[in-house]
Amino acid sequence: MTMEYERKHCQCHDTQTHFLERAFESLQLETAQRELLLAAFRETTVSIPLRPHRADDDGGELRTYMGYRVQHNHARGPFKGGLRFHPSVNLGEIRALAQLMTWKTALVDIPFGGAKGGITVDTNQLSSHALEILTKHFVQKMAPVFGVHQDIPAPDVGTNPQVMAWILEEYSKNHGYTPAIVTGKPVELGGSAGRLEATGHGVAHLTGQVATDLSLSIVDASVVIQGFGNVGSHAAKRLAAMGARVIALSDVRNGVTCDAGIDIERARRHVADTGWLESLPGTEPISNAELLELPCDILIPAAIEATINCDNAEAVQARLVVEAANMPVTHRADAVLRDRGITLVPDLLANAGGVLVSYYEWVQNLQEFPWELDIVLQRLEQRLGLVYEQVRDHSRQRQTDLRTAAYELAIGRVNRAMALRGF
Ligand code: NAD
Repeated sequence: MTMEYERKHCQCHDTQTHFLERAFESLQLETAQRELLLAAFRETTVSIPLRPHRADDDGGELRTYMGYRVQHNHARGPFKGGLRFHPSVNLGEIRALAQLMTWKTALVDIPFGGAKGGITVDTNQLSSHALEILTKHFVQKMAPVFGVHQDIPAPDVGTNPQVMAWILEEYSKNHGYTPAIVTGKPVELGGSAGRLEATGHGVAHLTGQVATDLSLSIVDASVVIQGFGNVGSHAAKRLAAMGARVIALSDVRNGVTCDAGIDIERARRHVADTGWLESLPGTEPISNAELLELPCDILIPAAIEATINCDNAEAVQARLVVEAANMPVTHRADAVLRDRGITLVPDLLANAGGVLVSYYEWVQNLQEFPWELDIVLQRLEQRLGLVYEQVRDHSRQRQTDLRTAAYELAIGRVNRAMALRGF
């Protein structure tokens, strides 16, 4: 585990605890209720011995990989959450992310609970065949805890529709063809139209709605986006289509800027051809640190956690910050932005488009009836818009910020469901 990762992980854990405590206080929950809300229902750890054939040579040595599934809460429905394949995956990180899923599914009011899982593995070191075997062994060992009405995994960092297809195949060996066991699958195997763009599309839609509330016209609004992966690129594409001017973009290496607005399609083609945003024609280079401090109307961190922290929060020059990534703003930075009057749309709400369309995918699989793309996106926009209005109205009523309001609504729903079921 690298020092940098450890630092970020500690910040994430502290950040989540701090936001939850704020909402618990405000809801005046007793200690016993808090303990029940925080405790995981079940944590499963498995070991997977494998003689992996490396990507660059095929005589692998025996290695034992560790896999995890944390099922945090299922008061409102089956456990739901992604699988992360990354060298830094550990039980503590998976625990925090599982909990976040519980609040996210409750906030957007879909009948799921929260879970997260993963394998500690550097996928770049494995051939595709070795990754397939590792995934299928993981599914065999997790078979007792997965289930269509029990626990439904999805993609996360380091996993993709292909990995979901292997999960579907392995699970179906013992249960018959079961597409509803996993979401984020290829469309050919029952994946939903629109799942790939769902999170970024939702981010853009909410950004437009919040901007309207701030009397900020989205047409010609200047937008800065950190991270040009799945979420960042689809958010950029949609915002540009809505008339916004995307003046800066970045990836893990570096950023690019252009005051007149970046041509997003050209940026996507450039990344597809070269792998990076660097040297995108018509733009100037900029560092990731400088990008976050650019004067702009809207700042969208869409890369990793804790990029806006106490080192740079005072220097942020946006009117609106939309958390497309999970936990990109630390709790200390959150307090600074609030004091400075900057509106912040929390991750819980901002990036919920992904899990919403995952839910639509599960529904389509259960009904064996696929929906057209425009129906998926229309339902996504409607639901996110409605949830934003609930959060905004609650925040006004309670005279609090959008994040605390979102946590209060989500925790209240989970708490009620647990009480009704007699947990
Ligand atoms: P991705 O891997 O497709 O893209 C990540 C982007 O961030 C890439 O451009 C990468 O180069 C860049 N990046 C990585 N490290 C960086 C760093 N240190 N500084 C600047 N840029 C960096 O990932 P994604 O699917 O777009 O997810 C982005 C964030 O959104 C993550 O926090 C993820 O958990 C969250 N999220 C994703 C989804 C989804 O549906 N994909 C849903 C909910 C939340």
